[in-house]
Amino acid sequence: MFDVVILGGTVVDGSGSPGYRADVGIKGERIEAIGDLSRAETRRVVDARGLTVSPGFIDTHTHSDAVLLTDPQHADGLRQGITTEILGQDGLSYAPLSPENYSANRRYLAGLLGEPPEDLDMSSISAFRSHYHKKVAINTAYPIPHGAVRLECVGFYDRPLVGNALEKARQIIRDGMEQGAVGLSTGMSYLPNAWSTTEELVELCKVVKEFDGVYITHLRDVNTDRAFGDGGVPEALEIGRRSGVKVHFSHYRTMPDSAGKVAERVALIDKAKSEGVDCTLELYPYPTGSSFPIRYLPAEASDGGPDALLKRLRDPGERQRMIEFMQQQSGDIDTAVFTHLPRNRDLEGMSLRDIAGARGVTLEEALFDLLVDEDLQVGYRGAPPDSVAVWRQISRDCVELLSRPDYMVGSDSIHVGSLPHPRAYGCFPRFLGRLRRQFDIMTLEEMVQRMTDNPARRFGLTGRGRIQEGNYADIVVFDADRIIDNATYDDPAQFPAGIPFVLVNGQVAVDNERCTGVMAGQAVP
Ligand SMILES: [Zn+2]
Repeated sequence: MFDVVILGGTVVDGSGSPGYRADVGIKGERIEAIGDLSRAETRRVVDARGLTVSPGFIDTHTHSDAVLLTDPQHADGLRQGITTEILGQDGLSYAPLSPENYSANRRYLAGLLGEPPEDLDMSSISAFRSHYHKKVAINTAYPIPHGAVRLECVGFYDRPLVGNALEKARQIIRDGMEQGAVGLSTGMSYLPNAWSTTEELVELCKVVKEFDGVYITHLRDVNTDRAFGDGGVPEALEIGRRSGVKVHFSHYRTMPDSAGKVAERVALIDKAKSEGVDCTLELYPYPTGSSFPIRYLPAEASDGGPDALLKRLRDPGERQRMIEFMQQQSGDIDTAVFTHLPRNRDLEGMSLRDIAGARGVTLEEALFDLLVDEDLQVGYRGAPPDSVAVWRQISRDCVELLSRPDYMVGSDSIHVGSLPHPRAYGCFPRFLGRLRRQFDIMTLEEMVQRMTDNPARRFGLTGRGRIQEGNYADIVVFDADRIIDNATYDDPAQFPAGIPFVLVNGQVAVDNERCTGVMAGQAVP
């Protein structure tokens, strides 16, 4: 007697090989049988006639750490067919942290992550994982965030991580890896991460390497004078070379200024791979990013943590110094559109330029005022390019990059605010539906492989990523001809179409496009 039989679908098993007609029988958490089960006894039948049955999607980069704790149903991810998310990205998360450091980091990161409950034990990776295990709708994996390691060892300050502090950091990583972390993550546009040197990261990654973990990096563009090769790709590759760690590049694709230049973007990485550096990459299929605007401020503005930052934002002399720094930068500040302003919801969706214009102040001053008013809880996204041709080229580049066997999909979803970046609702179906059909560069089977088997193997998620007997029954049933994203920049909070069923650990989590409320997600691996 099966608990669930998925009947009559085409199984695209995650391996990349052609789909085949078969039923899938599930008992408890696992796939028990694959074949003709039309006569088998079962408690529940999922009718998959005319549909594709694939492993649940693994999102290698999300910022759901806090919202999963306040909204464990997590329909935005689940309805896309995502059954596992890798949290803790860009080195920005909550564990392992002492209560004092958790409190400070919780405030500092609120523009990116929202507000998790105040009184949680975040003192270890085990404690962190326990807040999600069987309490949320999807599986979660977690790398140790570099920022948390720095906070625990040298505080929220621009201080070198050396000597005893470095030894403590290495021990934190060792403990974390033993408690189930999948690696170390960093984001070198952000503090406290970017106060590090290349040398520090090499020393930390040597420990990650001992456990065969992954170094996940959002590339450095802050304090580049502290980095090998001025940061960016050269620094990440050097860390891989010197520590032997597996390197994973976050959200790496072409941008409006590099549209069409796929070969140039990956040349250095391919050269390093040919010399033995173990690299993988991820991306999402949109032309612009989303983040929290503290990244526009000079690094030293964050020295001392959130209270010190707010004090500087109120101080006229400090503001002038920050303005001078910001005016020399070539960032995307002038295209910023606010996604998250909890005390000024009416301004969400407006550009920084428009708000500054209406208030008769500079872009910088408008931003400072909002950061103070919101107690730092501000999120933004970039505006898509005016040129449809550039946008289309970037979309094409994304599929071309994903066709490489070393690529996977990371939505980089940020789930706070009323007008989030559309990737939070549309990333996976945009690839599988709209872009696969539009460009005809990849087969359905190849694309599913990048979303399932590839990340499962890279991050050591044993028993997941493929439909095979004995594996966990993380499964998505979708209509390959109809699947499509509905989330747009103008109207982002729209669920996709063509994904009627999602199972997490054998439980039906989405039933005929409706979330069932089952909280079957596990902390994995
Ligand atoms: Zn990110």
